[in-house]
Amino acid sequence: MNDIKVAVLGSEGVGKSALIVRFLTRRFIGEYASSSECIYRKRMSIDGRQHNLELYDPCSQPCEGKSTLNEQIHWADGFVVVYNISDRSSFLTAKAIVHLIRELHLGGSKRDTDSVIFLVGNKQDLCHMREVDREEGQKLASERRCQFYELSAAEHYQEVVLMFSKIVRNASLG
Ligand code: GDP
Repeated sequence: MNDIKVAVLGSEGVGKSALIVRFLTRRFIGEYASSSECIYRKRMSIDGRQHNLELYDPCSQPCEGKSTLNEQIHWADGFVVVYNISDRSSFLTAKAIVHLIRELHLGGSKRDTDSVIFLVGNKQDLCHMREVDREEGQKLASERRCQFYELSAAEHYQEVVLMFSKIVRNASLG
């Protein structure tokens, strides 16, 4: 059994909880009241291997001693960095987070992070209010050597599942 820790990071309101809840329950919850529970656990089988997945959602409460971004980054094996395509400032925050993950892991004990940072532009269903072009997301991802997804927690259940399954697979290969 393999333990995999994935932190879902990004500005408030970008849809981190919505993505996690969608993945774990299939449901899209319009207004999700974050509780003090911020680590979600799931057992999953990928390519015949069993994994204990822990998903960290940094809700507003400090959780299990991981109140700072640095602590969250040190804890995790994989990262889903989320922004909202209709909110430019959330993209700038995502950019800074990706930068910090790379810095903290550079030369550190952790292995190369190329395949375990996923940059996710969420709320693609709101593309009529788009403030971040898809190409900008792709460019940042290729500059920072991240995998890139643009999707909607509200409308793209299959993509959300594929995205989380892929990061668990990648993180388990390290
Ligand atoms: P968090 O603070 O990053 O965890 O964000 P939440 O998951 O609480 O989501 C913030 C708001 O955005 C909620 O009202 C969600 O219903 C909404 N939301 C999340 N994902 C989507 C999406 O893909 N499309 C749309 N239209 N709304 C979304």
